Amino acid sequence: MTIKELLKYGEQLAQEHDKEETAIKLLLMHYLQQESYQLIMNMNQTVEVKQIDEFKAGVNEYVINNVPVQHIIGHEYFYGYNFIVGPNVLIPRFETEELVANVLAAYDEVFDGKEVNCVDVGTGSGAIAITLSLEEANLNMDATDISEEALVVAKQNAKNLDANVNFLAGDMLQPLIESGKKYDILVSNPPYIPEEEYVEALVKDNEPHVALFGGGDGMKFYRIIMSEAKKILNSKNILAFEHGWNQKEQMETLIKEFYPNSEYEILKDMNGKYRMTIIKNR
Ligand code: GLN
Repeated sequence: MTIKELLKYGEQLAQEHDKEETAIKLLLMHYLQQESYQLIMNMNQTVEVKQIDEFKAGVNEYVINNVPVQHIIGHEYFYGYNFIVGPNVLIPRFETEELVANVLAAYDEVFDGKEVNCVDVGTGSGAIAITLSLEEANLNMDATDISEEALVVAKQNAKNLDANVNFLAGDMLQPLIESGKKYDILVSNPPYIPEEEYVEALVKDNEPHVALFGGGDGMKFYRIIMSEAKKILNSKNILAFEHGWNQKEQMETLIKEFYPNSEYEILKDMNGKYRMTIIKNR
């Protein structure tokens, strides 16, 4: 079979099973070790039997067994950086790239080129912390996670991408409170899906529940972070969160309770859904 025929084979199978056709190209790139432009140039090339078998097995994993394509190929791009991912970390989402961009903008606005301490709470793959540290050299970056398995992945990503991030194991702010260090920026994309909410099988069956579910109302971790953040933040600070599209009012309630005098904005993601909150205390 040629590259063209393999692509067609996979895309047709994906279509029949209501799966993303774009994932097929990622699989083909992975198994043939070729970039997208190379596939296009080599469309009529015949593929070795061994590679055909591997590709078809991968397509089967994705289309029939409902395994995320990122788990099959082992990585995902975030903010242009290549992050390894696996079953122990949440696969980085596009929305979270917008959170990172907004944190960088808020840093420029509030701290304007100064060196500051920043922490990512619940870092998972390390996508937020590593990207922030690579994009803004003035951020001294720490990151926490309760999952030791996640931290193994995050540390590997920091190493691969040559990012200087200090990782701490522990529950939410606990390791930070214990260290006594003070921060200027806190960013977090905590688990925020309400316990009983419907989650599609591709996510629910493959991604770590410790990274997805945030208690009965999904707000558990914002409550913990906001109620304790004063212990680790300097008085001038930024708090930035990703949250569910329907959690705007609940975020406002928490801000009024814990940060009544702060400036804040609740921003929509590219899908037009309220997705992140940036709180500024100047
Ligand atoms: N955005 C993720 C999802 O919809 C949830 C991430 C999270 O809970 N932080 O699957």
